[in-house]
Amino acid sequence: MAPRFVRQSPPGRSAAGRRRAMFALAAVLVVATGCKLSGPAGASESATPAASTATLEAELSDALGARLTKTLEGPALEAHFMNIGQGDAILLRSPAGKTVLIDTGPPGADDVLRGYLDGLGVDRIDLMVNTHPHSDHIGNTRELLSWMPVGRIFDSGFAHPTATYEKLLEAIEARRVPLRIVRGGQVVNLDEGIRLEVLGPADPLIDKSRSDANANSVIIRVDYGEVSFLLTGDAEEETEDRLLAGDPAKLRATVLKVAHHGSKHATHQRFLDAVSPALAVISCSADNTYGHPAPETMQRLKKKGVPALVTSKLGHVIVATDGRQLTVNHDHALPRRTGDARLDLNSATRSHLEALPGIGEALADRIVRDRAANGPFRTVDALTRVNGIGEATVEQIRPMVTVR
Ligand SMILES: [Zn+2]
Repeated sequence: MAPRFVRQSPPGRSAAGRRRAMFALAAVLVVATGCKLSGPAGASESATPAASTATLEAELSDALGARLTKTLEGPALEAHFMNIGQGDAILLRSPAGKTVLIDTGPPGADDVLRGYLDGLGVDRIDLMVNTHPHSDHIGNTRELLSWMPVGRIFDSGFAHPTATYEKLLEAIEARRVPLRIVRGGQVVNLDEGIRLEVLGPADPLIDKSRSDANANSVIIRVDYGEVSFLLTGDAEEETEDRLLAGDPAKLRATVLKVAHHGSKHATHQRFLDAVSPALAVISCSADNTYGHPAPETMQRLKKKGVPALVTSKLGHVIVATDGRQLTVNHDHALPRRTGDARLDLNSATRSHLEALPGIGEALADRIVRDRAANGPFRTVDALTRVNGIGEATVEQIRPMVTVR
């Protein structure tokens, strides 16, 4: 299969659109958070106590040195580790607006996922990765497919006969999204200079481990210039041993997404030594019953001088890089769009739609039904698929609406 997004040109999102989205992101990070950890200390108004923000800032500064900045000079690759509860949802967005979503968090967190993506102005996922079929990782993937176009899906292919996973596979098939069972060695050139490599699982799959579903997680490495990310799903000790027995040099990374929400069953010393990260991110909920992150794991990170950014404490964690330097931010609030007051046809309520010129009650109802039956509108012009809406109506409302 031809890679769908190798240096695609022109990019899916217009340059102006991207600038707007980037501006929105920057505004959110600078104005709303008060938790810009990169660079000089600022006033902190967030839920994070100022003292611990200052401590974290000092830790980051120690660990990253001159690589930590408050403003990137080149085009940015962003990694958003969403505060999605007890699960993982990680969005990568390239400078050209290419998007990779790694997991979608636990069931019931679809409002966070949708709000986050919408706030960033993400209107398409180019590559979706199901690291493994546990519900805290694929909990909202089926919902996502109903409101956002997805280019293709990578899956571990680990057989897991739960209703959540089976229904997801049915939805993927029904929507004809190309699904690929991936193994170590698969490479995707996401954007100019941004390379994504699958490091695992490998055949034969690990079996008779503590959790084979976890142990066969899709492991991803992302490289952009001198900066790299290692995203480990819920890998366990057996997975780490296999990776170490392969090519340990490929494990070395700037940012480690700590496996399995900081569980004690992963991130063992020899693995941590091979990765040697400057920064670690842990995704978990504050009140989880698993004791994540495990004190042992936190201790190993601390001893190695690796600052650990935990979503349950800091909210959404956003690491951006231009391939040389990094910015690190966190925020409890969802990102908010700015500068675009147009009505989103894919999330507008009936009453909002009714108020548009030439729409009214009956057509608003048809739009909502059509959206539920046929999925999101990919363009404003696609409104003409609704019975009773012609080109003239679309022209009339065009300045007031958009699709996200
Ligand atoms: Zn998990």
